[in-house]
Amino acid sequence: MRQNYINGQWINAQGGKSWDVLNPATEEVIATLPFGGAIDAHAAIDAARQAFPAWKNTNAWQRAEVLKKTADLMRSRAKELAVDTVAESGKPMLEAIGEWTVAAQFFEWYAEEAKRSYGRVIPASRNNKRMSVIHAPMGVVGIITAWNFPVWNLCRVWAAALAAGCTIVAKPSEYTPLTAMNLMALLVEAGLPAGAANLVLGDAAAIGDALLERPEVRKIHFVGSTRVGKILLEGASKTNTKLSLELGGNAPVLIFPDVDLEAVCKSAALAKSRNCGQVCVSPQRFLVHESIYQAFCEKTAGHLQAFKIGNGQDPATQLGPLINARQRENVAKVVEQSLSQGAKLYCGGKRPSHLPKGYFYEPTLLANVEQQTAIFRQEVFGPVMGVTPFSNLDQAIELANDTEYGLASYCWTNDLRTSIKVSEALEFGIVGINEWAAHATEAPFGGWKQSGLGYECGEEGLHEYLEKKLVSIGDL
Ligand code: ADP
Repeated sequence: MRQNYINGQWINAQGGKSWDVLNPATEEVIATLPFGGAIDAHAAIDAARQAFPAWKNTNAWQRAEVLKKTADLMRSRAKELAVDTVAESGKPMLEAIGEWTVAAQFFEWYAEEAKRSYGRVIPASRNNKRMSVIHAPMGVVGIITAWNFPVWNLCRVWAAALAAGCTIVAKPSEYTPLTAMNLMALLVEAGLPAGAANLVLGDAAAIGDALLERPEVRKIHFVGSTRVGKILLEGASKTNTKLSLELGGNAPVLIFPDVDLEAVCKSAALAKSRNCGQVCVSPQRFLVHESIYQAFCEKTAGHLQAFKIGNGQDPATQLGPLINARQRENVAKVVEQSLSQGAKLYCGGKRPSHLPKGYFYEPTLLANVEQQTAIFRQEVFGPVMGVTPFSNLDQAIELANDTEYGLASYCWTNDLRTSIKVSEALEFGIVGINEWAAHATEAPFGGWKQSGLGYECGEEGLHEYLEKKLVSIGDL
């Protein structure tokens, strides 16, 4: 089963290439997989195209049977499925089990939501005319995903596209393909017809080009870096392929002096360390009122230093490694640059000395961060927070909005007026007030500005895969 899945068959890649999957906690090879490219991608697109008419013509209730069964299988086997996820992503076991369990919701929720993809009847301005709008699945959808949430990233798109009646060609990250293969096996077990979902592991650029090239691929959904998002945008400008992009973030957190500081510092450290900071909605730029700034830095650094860093397979581990050496280098570079620009190191800033193997990096707090400091400007995608003081609400909002990104933002306050002013002024697709988990299966998730295009999750997520068709009847 550790192969590509095309047209209902687990098969080897064309060209005979292979790919070693590493455990980021040990740097050991845990699997060697077939690694394809353009030929495999074209075969998968052919299969998805052939399967589309039949899948499209099932009704939403029929599709729901397969999708809900997939959700049940994910939940009942979450503990076993989490083993591969931990091994290839490095995240702690509890986080991986939680990810499988929460991601299962997508299959259940979209199975139900597709039953409610109502069209509408439009009262016409002429008596001899009747107009209605119906929804139609787009066709074949290409789905390219990142490694940071190897289950969740996939499910929010696979579930929505399949529920809408589209067929899919999925390319998982080369760093976390085992999880994707395990998920595909559950869909097969749940009764998904051959060709409705296809999985191709291989050369990312070649597969991306194949998806862009083929007119049958009506949309590409991408989760990953702004860099690759721009490559796809450029390609799509030639082929007119529709895109949904979930790109980077650089989330601000506004903390006002009326909060319970102890509680906020503790939860901030936890939120920052989730998935080792490799989260597009990870809090990064902490903007703290000057009256509590010093205390915030000291207390939060204390919590960060107390985390147990290690292999995700050890139940005591709270913080795993970064995904690979390149990611750790990027994080280290942002920290070094910030320090050279005058930031003050409260904790971390290096690899843990007791873990010579694995891509670990200590949770890090940088204070005295200014608007031009690297940790303020660049997405770090690691366990690093920057802290900047502010003196009034207007200044805090201005600092928060001073970024090219616009995905998540957070505000901690017990003042009703402050919370309303902040939530209305922030230029982000998500504003979490007094919470760090400001997202849900049933609510829209999307970035403004350079953070993306389109929405995932919620009713919006389903509509990303449905075209609207106006049926206008005249001459009545
Ligand atoms: P990261 O560099 O953080 O892994 P990427 O944006 O590079 O994030 O990766 C997200 C996904 O995009 C992965 O599945 C990766 O294989 C894929 N990818 C990388 N380069 C390209 C490309 N040129 N075209 C299409 N997909 C790509």
